[in-house]
Amino acid sequence: MLDEYIEAQKNEIVQEICNLVNIPSVSEETKDPQMPFGEGCKKVLDYTLKLGERLGFRTKNIDNYCGYIEFGEGEKLVGIIGHLDVVPSGDGWKTPPFEASIRDGKIYGRGTIDDKGPVISALYAMKAVKDNLKVNSRVRLILGVNEEKDWKCIKHYKEKEELPSIGFSPDADFPCIYAEKGIATMYIKEDYSKYEDLPIKIAQIDCKNNAINVVPKYCKVVLKLDPDRIDVGDCFNYLSDIIRELDFDISYDTYDTDIHITSRGIQAHAAHPNLGKNAVSQMIILLNRIYKHFGYNINILDFFEKHIGMEYNGKLLDLAIEDESGILTLNVGHFKYDEDFLQIGINLRIPVNTPILEVTDSISKKSEKYDLETYVAGKQEPLYIPKDNELVKLLCNIYNKNTNSNAKPIAIGGGTYARAFDNCISFGANFPGDQDMCHQANEFVDIEKIVLACKIYAEAIYELAK
Ligand SMILES: [Zn+2]
Repeated sequence: MLDEYIEAQKNEIVQEICNLVNIPSVSEETKDPQMPFGEGCKKVLDYTLKLGERLGFRTKNIDNYCGYIEFGEGEKLVGIIGHLDVVPSGDGWKTPPFEASIRDGKIYGRGTIDDKGPVISALYAMKAVKDNLKVNSRVRLILGVNEEKDWKCIKHYKEKEELPSIGFSPDADFPCIYAEKGIATMYIKEDYSKYEDLPIKIAQIDCKNNAINVVPKYCKVVLKLDPDRIDVGDCFNYLSDIIRELDFDISYDTYDTDIHITSRGIQAHAAHPNLGKNAVSQMIILLNRIYKHFGYNINILDFFEKHIGMEYNGKLLDLAIEDESGILTLNVGHFKYDEDFLQIGINLRIPVNTPILEVTDSISKKSEKYDLETYVAGKQEPLYIPKDNELVKLLCNIYNKNTNSNAKPIAIGGGTYARAFDNCISFGANFPGDQDMCHQANEFVDIEKIVLACKIYAEAIYELAK
């Protein structure tokens, strides 16, 4: 019904997506109250709120933590929840990640699909409704700038502002998402100083600051050997043999009695560890083998190889859990040497019907047998709304009508803002079958599709707010 109006805004939609991409906005915590998540996040939030004003909306900046753009009158508040911060660019880009570029009908740049493109699409959908139809509710686009980190933006919003009674988050997939797995980040650690006397020492670990929710593609370790107690030549030979046997992408350089080992994998989002190859897991297994070859045992390395290894489905932990939301997955995202402790950080995606505590407790118990400590660094309860819920049915139908399809609601392992509010689900803007470009190099959004998403959002907004 608003399709022609939106079609006429296409160039503006494309331009504004580019404008947002051109403001690098990786969330970083600072002590400056004017920019609690850094200069880029402050800039992108200010810019978007100004754009909202220019398009005729009411706007509010909430202490630079987040902001909103609103129209309509009435008791009911419909929420659309998105974010303007992005993950770091990483490498492998063909064009500069923070300079939007258009080729073959696509916009390339960090944030184009996660989540700047969908935010602009939702904003112009609001404009289409505001300028053409009458609604009986307020519609509010809530914008956070710490989504890719700790969600402090949305926590702040919830403390200070009115909560929407219904809504959606344009930050995942169409047709719509009725279940998001539970998420937990857990660390397993061991005091490494008790191995001080061993002639092989892990002196340095570098994973290039990999985020816990990303399958690491790089891990470097420096090993120091004591030549009086270790046959250094034997160690080099063993390394060559074992790398060949394991078939890992690992190389090493030797500097006198130091060995610099580099493991390479394939980066992917932690919700889809099957798409990646974990450079850290490869490294830990290799280290375990080296110690074992010389007759030594490091508990945490031994535990790792026996109970995690190269698996990402929890099988070796006796946690091969599966329900309608999918299988349990885990990603080994961190490996560090911190104040005498060796620490391994894992990010778990837990099927909706299994309590998070049950999984983390089970891992703790297993690690205790190896004399290891564990702690849970963070968790997000799952989201689950029955498939026959009115909101799920409504959004799914709108999607199907606009795309001539018959798609069913889906479950995902990713965590979106939808779970921050009751009665809220994730809705687009990835289409079924689209390559998942979230957090990837050469992230892009297809222009025709983001305009189609805008039409779908406009209808959804009208139906929720009319
Ligand atoms: Zn996102």
